[in-house]
This record gives sequence, C-alpha cells and structure tokens, in this order.
Amino acid sequence: MQLLEYDAKRLLREAGLPVPEGIVVSAPDQIPSVVFPVVVKSQVPVGGRGKLGGVKTAHDQTELEELVANILQLDIKGYKPNAVLIEPALEIARELYLALRINRDQRRLEYIVAAEGGVEIESHASDVDVLPDSPDVYEQVAKILQLDAVETKKLTQQLEIAFVDNDCLLIEINPLAVTTRDQLFCADAKIQVDDNARFRQENLPLPEVTDIKPLGGNIGVVANGAGMAMSTMDTIYAAGGKPANFLDIGGGTGQEVFATNLQKIADLPGITSIIINIFAGITRCDDIARGILASQSRVPNLPPLYVRLEGTNREEAAALLADAGIDLQPDLASCVKEAMNYV
Ligand code: GDP
Ligand code: MN
Repeated sequence: MQLLEYDAKRLLREAGLPVPEGIVVSAPDQIPSVVFPVVVKSQVPVGGRGKLGGVKTAHDQTELEELVANILQLDIKGYKPNAVLIEPALEIARELYLALRINRDQRRLEYIVAAEGGVEIESHASDVDVLPDSPDVYEQVAKILQLDAVETKKLTQQLEIAFVDNDCLLIEINPLAVTTRDQLFCADAKIQVDDNARFRQENLPLPEVTDIKPLGGNIGVVANGAGMAMSTMDTIYAAGGKPANFLDIGGGTGQEVFATNLQKIADLPGITSIIINIFAGITRCDDIARGILASQSRVPNLPPLYVRLEGTNREEAAALLADAGIDLQPDLASCVKEAMNYV
C-alpha cells in the first residue's frame, strides 16, 4: 500500500529526517492561522500531483482558502483527496532525488539517486544512479548529490531506520530540497509499505476497503461468504430488525482489514450494534478473534459486538474473546436477539 504524503512524512520525521512542519485539513473552515507563503498539497496516493494542479502556493489567507477548496475538489488520476497538507513554502535552490528500495532479485536494499530531481525526473532517466546499500554508500550519494558527507551519512542512516522499522518496500524523496539557506528538507515523500507485515505495524494507517454496502438500518453485519451475509440479514429482518449494511468479508482476512471494516461500519449513521457471523474453514476462528481484539483498541467508537463463530479453532477463539469480555453466541438467532435488545 502507498501511504499518503502526510503519513509518509510522519514516519520520516519519527526517524529524525528533516521534514517541514505541516498541517492537515479536510475543509476550508479548518484552516488555522499560518505564516505565508505556504504550499497546499492534495493528499492522494499517486505521484505527479504537481503537474496536475495538486500542489500550489498561497500568499495570503484568501488565496489559501480558495486553494484548499479547489484542491479538495480536484480529481487526480481518479483520486479525490479527503485532505490537503499545508506546509511553509520552502525557498528551493536545488531539487534532488533520493530513494531507497528493496531489490528482490539481488536480495538487497539499494539507493536510487539523481542530482536533478523534481517533477521532471522521468526526463532525466539517464542521469539516475542505482547504488547497492553498503556501510559507505553515503559517500557516493553525497558525491552525486553534491551534499556534505557527514550530513548525508546521517540522512541515509535515518532513512534506513525509517525503512526497516516500518517494513517499507520503497521510500522515495522527490524532491529532497536544498534551500537557498543551504538547509535540507524532504519536500515530498512517497512510501510503499509491505502489506504482509502489517500485523506488526500498529503505527500505520488502516488500508482502504470499499466493499461495505450501507442499508440504512442500525445493526451492522460482518459475515464471510455472500450466503452467510444474506442469511444474517434475513434473520435480522425476520426478527423485526434492520441491518445497517451488507458485507462479505471473504476468507483469510487479516486483522488490519478486519479492523478497517469494523471502523467503516461503526462510522455508519445510527449504528447500535454489530453482528459477526463467520464459519471458519480456511479462515481460523482464533484469527477472527484477534481481529476483533485489534479492533477494540483501534476503533474508538466500536458499538457492542455479538459474535458467532463456528469451525476451525473455535475453542481458542472463545478463550481469547472471553478474556476481553465477549462471550461467543451459540447461534445466529441468539446473536440477533441480543443485538435487537441492545438499543
Ligand atoms: P508530486 O508532483 O506529486 O511529486 O508533488 P511534490 O510534492 O513533489 O510537488 C511538486 C513540485 O512542487 C516539487 O517538485 C517542487 O518543485 C514544488 N514544491 C513542493 N513543495 C514546495 C515548497 O515548499 N516550495 C517550493 N518552492 N516548491 C515546492
Ligand atoms: Mn514529488
């Protein structure tokens, strides 16, 4: 998954890299007072925003409000942003390109560097160097980018900490900006994280899911298989209740996706409870239980859950959930009854 710029920059900042102090807003009325000029940046998970009008400079409050409103409406390669990042505008003297990625074929980390970075990087493809990671790689990086060696050593060390700590596949800083006062800043950051390592990355945002169909009722539904989801809805209707959504969560669902789905359901208007009805074949009940436990800490507005699990590792799941104060329901009917009683 590719992180949004502000999340990517947060990870870099945490590793000590120089990043401008920005503010994220999702509506013009959230704009705080700032020192001008500032850059306004669309937060979409794709590159090339600059060329498509997604990165603009504002010189006063009126212009800033206009730009925020415009950029929030702007479609960039099929993405509309939920937020924009506002940062103090840098006075950039040089735009460098610096990336670190995994080379799977060679089983190594490698740097990609170019002295001419920025939005035209593709047209300078011949001036890009690929450098295998090594203890003294910073010397080559410093030479190519015409940076101070000591400063570059620190920069690459911090970059590698960010990379390893967050299970990244790619960190791309373009531009790595040298200001007119000779300061270095990561002016843009694109980070791809390894979704297979998400189970140990509490610090990362939840991935997007879009397969929840809202139905307007108050009882949320999480089931695996379309048949299970439909029979859950039918049972709710038969008891006089109204399901809030349709969701077939599929098999082999990781904790991340589970938490994301529960978050989306919890955010639906008028939700009072959620029924989780899963038959575990390929999926294991204890994995579902861990997903539920992860959701309890990650979804602040989680309503009461009524859980029915059958199949592989049911007893382990029952024990895990009991420790967290959730008793497994014996069948779907009792799930629905309990959910209807809780209003
Ligand atoms: P991208 O097009 O999606 O890669 O978005 P960037 O964040 O890289 O922004 C595109 C271009 O906008 C950069 O290459 C810079 O030339 C410019 N830019 C971004 N931030 C600043 C800034 O703070 N000051 C100035 N002067 N230019 C900026
Ligand atoms: Mn960029």
